[in-house]
Amino acid sequence: GTPFDTTTSSTDVHDGGDGGSAVIIDLDHGNPTMYEEYWKQMGDKTTVVIPGWQYISYFSDIKNICWFLEPEFAKAAIRLHNLIGNAVTENHYIIVGTGSSQLYQAVLYALASTDDPNPMSVVSAAPFYSSYPLMTDYLKSGIHRWAGDAYNFSTDEPYIELVTSPNNPDGSIRQAVANGNKGILVHDLAYYWPQYTPITHQADEDIMLFTISKSTGHAGTRIGWALVRDPKIAKKMTKFIEINTIGVSKDSQLRAARILQAVSDDYDSISNVKENERFFEHSYSVMVKRWKELRAAVDKSKNFSLPKFPPDTCTFSGQTFEPQPAFAWLKCEEETVDDCESFFRSHNILTRGGKHFGVSPKYVRISMLDSNNKFKIFTDRLSRLSSMKS
Ligand code: PMP
Repeated sequence: GTPFDTTTSSTDVHDGGDGGSAVIIDLDHGNPTMYEEYWKQMGDKTTVVIPGWQYISYFSDIKNICWFLEPEFAKAAIRLHNLIGNAVTENHYIIVGTGSSQLYQAVLYALASTDDPNPMSVVSAAPFYSSYPLMTDYLKSGIHRWAGDAYNFSTDEPYIELVTSPNNPDGSIRQAVANGNKGILVHDLAYYWPQYTPITHQADEDIMLFTISKSTGHAGTRIGWALVRDPKIAKKMTKFIEINTIGVSKDSQLRAARILQAVSDDYDSISNVKENERFFEHSYSVMVKRWKELRAAVDKSKNFSLPKFPPDTCTFSGQTFEPQPAFAWLKCEEETVDDCESFFRSHNILTRGGKHFGVSPKYVRISMLDSNNKFKIFTDRLSRLSSMKS
């Protein structure tokens, strides 16, 4: 499949009430529509109105390395990181991107465009995020090329290693693994937020990528940000975005700023918002509930299995809990099922198979972030598949 298509919709689906399996449930993409309900309840708190004369200029802050970065957005991102304690923002430059997807390409450009005539290798430990190989190679760039699983990679040359933690697709907590001493690490921390995993430390890496798509769920706003220590790399990333799209939508940055501000405001000491109505408490409890339901459906039989994660204490919430990732990395254990994606497709559940992530087709990735309605139909259907005799 393509990394993204337009067949998913956030509109509710119905299973006909007969517990049948006619309705196609698409959980292939990590489309975060789960968050719609919360933001609907928040009413006008994050509504942004932009008059026609405003934000006409290409420029935002010409004194900043990232001259198209809206100061209000930068301020809101720093404030949120300080509140959650998931990343160090001091001594880092902020680069805004059209999703963290654009920042991924900007970072490859910044790190790989050297005088070396050979393309620089880009690796990540399997199972890796299925878009990395596609985004690395689709333009057949002469400066970088996808070199696959970091576990099987060894070199004396410079290379780039993507460290995705928690990992997409399997939710694991990760460190660099490639065998080489000239690796440049890029930390993709899209899921390092307290609804998915205990926050155990303030990440202080040289290059860190974040996105609003997975933090607050506003994937359609297309805003991501990079925290970059080296000003030379920050400048080159900015140059890439300048050549690529001459900056990043100010309307979107403004909207993203408003959303991040609203999230942080609820944690202010003067806020009178109830604890369970604050964004991260709310999204945490939805994930607790979903993982409980998913494990209950899977544990009914030996047909399927899920990864187990060790619990840890979250410095943000004070709670001790097991990671509850944005994706379920499910294995079809039955010997007769070689291709887990096809197995689920035959039951009208669309998932993404292991081969997209560089591993066995016995695995599938299933989004845990879709609407309540789709998730319910999915777990009901999975329960029935679990109860079937193998
Ligand atoms: N990195 C990871 C690990 C992801 O899972 C995603 C979204 N699926 C992205 C980056 C890209 O996010 P976006 O472009 O929406 O910011």
